[in-house]
Amino acid sequence: TLSGNSAKTPNRPTAAMDVEEFRKHGKDMVDYICDYMKSLQERQVIPDVQPGYLRLSLPAIPPEQPEAWESIMKDVEDHVMRGVTHWQHPRFHAYFPAGNAYPSIMGGMLGDALGIVGFSWAASPACAELEMLVLDWLAKMTHMPHHFQHESGLGGGVMQGSASDSILVTMLAARRDKLNQIKREHANDFEEGKFLSRLVAYCSKLAHSCVEKAGMISCIQVHQLDYHPDYLGLQGRTLQLAIEEDRRNGLIPFFVCAVLGTTACASCDDLESITQVCQREGLWCHVDAAYAGSAFICEELTYFLRGVEVSRRNVDSYNFNPNKWMLINFDCSVLWVRDKEKLTSSMIVDPVYLQHKHSSNVVDFRHWGIPLSRRFRSLKVWFVIRSYGVEGLRRYIRNHCMLAKLFESQVKRDNRFELVGQVHFGLVCFRWKDSNALTQYLIRQINDSGKLHMIPATVKGQYIIRFALCSEHAKEEDVFYAWNVIKTHADEISTTIKTLNMWTKQAFRNSITKEVDIEQEEDVGDAGEGGDGGEESGSAGG
Ligand SMILES: *Cc1c(COP(=O)(O)O)cnc(C)c1O
Repeated sequence: TLSGNSAKTPNRPTAAMDVEEFRKHGKDMVDYICDYMKSLQERQVIPDVQPGYLRLSLPAIPPEQPEAWESIMKDVEDHVMRGVTHWQHPRFHAYFPAGNAYPSIMGGMLGDALGIVGFSWAASPACAELEMLVLDWLAKMTHMPHHFQHESGLGGGVMQGSASDSILVTMLAARRDKLNQIKREHANDFEEGKFLSRLVAYCSKLAHSCVEKAGMISCIQVHQLDYHPDYLGLQGRTLQLAIEEDRRNGLIPFFVCAVLGTTACASCDDLESITQVCQREGLWCHVDAAYAGSAFICEELTYFLRGVEVSRRNVDSYNFNPNKWMLINFDCSVLWVRDKEKLTSSMIVDPVYLQHKHSSNVVDFRHWGIPLSRRFRSLKVWFVIRSYGVEGLRRYIRNHCMLAKLFESQVKRDNRFELVGQVHFGLVCFRWKDSNALTQYLIRQINDSGKLHMIPATVKGQYIIRFALCSEHAKEEDVFYAWNVIKTHADEISTTIKTLNMWTKQAFRNSITKEVDIEQEEDVGDAGEGGDGGEESGSAGG
């Protein structure tokens, strides 16, 4: 019967959470998050798990029947959390900061709840328009030129999933632009593949690996150029020479990716001289400021932007990641171009089902990147900027810069160490003087202890340790704590080296067999690589 049927058929096809259950568990989830944030200090910053740990604790097959929310959350706490690296932990100094201010978390929640797929203006007008608005806000906040703003009618900004996407999309646009130009010049014998294989892009050897990857994806050779040995940035002169040589070899230079704030050591390319070369030689100039871009809300740091603002012709496109250093959750990477036509003309495909009556006079962001579908990401940016005010964000950046200087002063006072590069932002790089091996050993010991998390990098072939300020509320105490951990491990290593050196000398005096003698000497030489191998001073000397 009818009634029998309706009794058997539930009024929703799935038995999972309804709106009232969501109201309850959603509030529980906020509580869980708050407890997590408050418990960070007691957790170990990096987890103590081996590869494959989760497979051993969770079922390999999905449940056939619905499970209780409580039992899911229990597994989160018992198994998932056990393998989480705590990026928001006050002892986390690896990579770069990953913003997660509360207003940003809430912007993410609301965006998820609206469940919008904002590929065009018509697909959700607010999504397109708020994105345009916050991109203009960000341009104004970070001292970008007027022509990067939608307001200008010339260029504009768009959110991409990552800096890697921004750089790929830009390289594709520059490639299309160059090929179009060649086509106009060689109308009679234009064969795309022939010219494509001659295109060449440039960046410094310290540029992010995503430039190389973008080159691989777009079938473009990328020449990685030497950077200045002192300030660790690419100079216009180096670029000029590379362009000339490549032209002599029949290549077609078309694109440069300059970096402000390299990943290894936050150094900056010399934008002013690079943009001059680009203008003279007709190259597309892109700037990758993934990390450092957020700092340009502070007037006193904008001197690195020389070359961006001078004239309309200077920089063609520019990206930075508010999800690194502006307290906004991943993902949020912004890209500006000075000529929006050049970007979109490499991306436009226009099937009927995506056209709408306002197509001709609104911005459809599906033409500004690779994916069609787009999340409502601008909410979290808008929430954060309004909640903190630009002045609040400046205070956050300045606090990290000040603490970086404090950490730098600690390193300077310990003559076992040397600084690498200059401290402009919230990152300090240092190493054990003259020794890759000791630097590597030291950071390994520290990370293994679980007391602190840092990562290494290489600059000028030297192994370095990066100390990044990450936590939103980082304090002087945190810097002193970190320095103390580093110093304690360094002291242990120094003592071991001293003992080893004494022992070697003794062994030599007692003249045990000659083979043993040589072996010991080599061991010590290795531990103090680059040192003079002198038995008394060793490389831990001082
Ligand atoms: C982090 C970083 C990137 C890569 O960022 P994604 O958004 O993860 O692709 C690129 N360039 C620089 C300078 C970076 O620091």
